[in-house]
Amino acid sequence: MDPLLKKILEASGISGYEKEIAAIMKAELGKVCDKVETDIFGNVIARKGKGKKKIMLAAHMDEIGLLVKYITKDGYLNFIKVGGIDDRILLGKKVIIKGKNGDVQGIIGSKPPHLQRDEERKQTVKYEDMFIDIGARSREDAEKRVAVADAVIFDTGCGQLHGNLYYGKAIDNRIGCYALIKIMEKLRVAAEVFAVATVQEEVGLKGARTASFKIDPQFAIAIDTTVAGDTPGIKETESSLKLGNGVAITVLEASGRGVIVSEQVRELFMDAAKKNKIKYQLDVIEGGMTDGAIIYMNREGIPTGVLSIPTRYVHAPTGVFSIEDVNSAIELTKAVVEKVAKQ
Ligand SMILES: [Zn+2]
Repeated sequence: MDPLLKKILEASGISGYEKEIAAIMKAELGKVCDKVETDIFGNVIARKGKGKKKIMLAAHMDEIGLLVKYITKDGYLNFIKVGGIDDRILLGKKVIIKGKNGDVQGIIGSKPPHLQRDEERKQTVKYEDMFIDIGARSREDAEKRVAVADAVIFDTGCGQLHGNLYYGKAIDNRIGCYALIKIMEKLRVAAEVFAVATVQEEVGLKGARTASFKIDPQFAIAIDTTVAGDTPGIKETESSLKLGNGVAITVLEASGRGVIVSEQVRELFMDAAKKNKIKYQLDVIEGGMTDGAIIYMNREGIPTGVLSIPTRYVHAPTGVFSIEDVNSAIELTKAVVEKVAKQ
């Protein structure tokens, strides 16, 4: 695994707490762009090239996670969820609390099945009934290491699963962030290209809103992840996307509540993919939105495309993706930007 990708996947940054990943993005984009800054909202905005056109590329750097809500008198932590998380995947997971004086290890616990009544056992345990165990003896003891409002991330590591398939934390959307750096490294066009690592996407596409207003681009691409359908239990009619079959060109998100990519923009992406022999799939999805949904409504409207990398187990502590699809996203973004710059 590329050490840069590993660093990006492992960095912490739940929505609103992106400082650690933002510092990495700023340093890495700084190496391959002309200028990089952080705006009031926390978005990292890098610029490269000169020309009449302004093109914006966006990838959100926040990840889903938890936040400490309350510390019990026995030293256990209650928490809330930040972003869309299925309660069923939380139990027994190892987490890291980002304490003021350093990382604190924790385990998400609940009442074991042996002690549950029959009716209790039939229901899934809700997150409100779980807690994080940090091995503290009391509230006072816990408060030496953690505090209310500390961010909590999953501690799942990352690596190669097999062949081109990799696993890791925060796949959504750190693989997009990684792609963003690689795109800017390769791009040489007669246009002003802005690479934005956005904040607070998972909680309402917020960073993309302020960043696209500031930049006021003539064309934009959001790079994110989408649901792969190649695992047991998912019907082909629900998602036909397969890992390794290429980056997904998103046409419509959230049954139309998200971005609806114009025919012209869709054709532009498909033509560029065909011409450059880049593997792609078409994505029409009933749930989920990307930064593209906000950017395309900026000011009087911005022609915007969305490239999504298919991912297994989206919004779980560990996801699986194909590095081949990440490369397709890099190549296709580059080809489209080159084409738009010339128009
Ligand atoms: Zn995402």
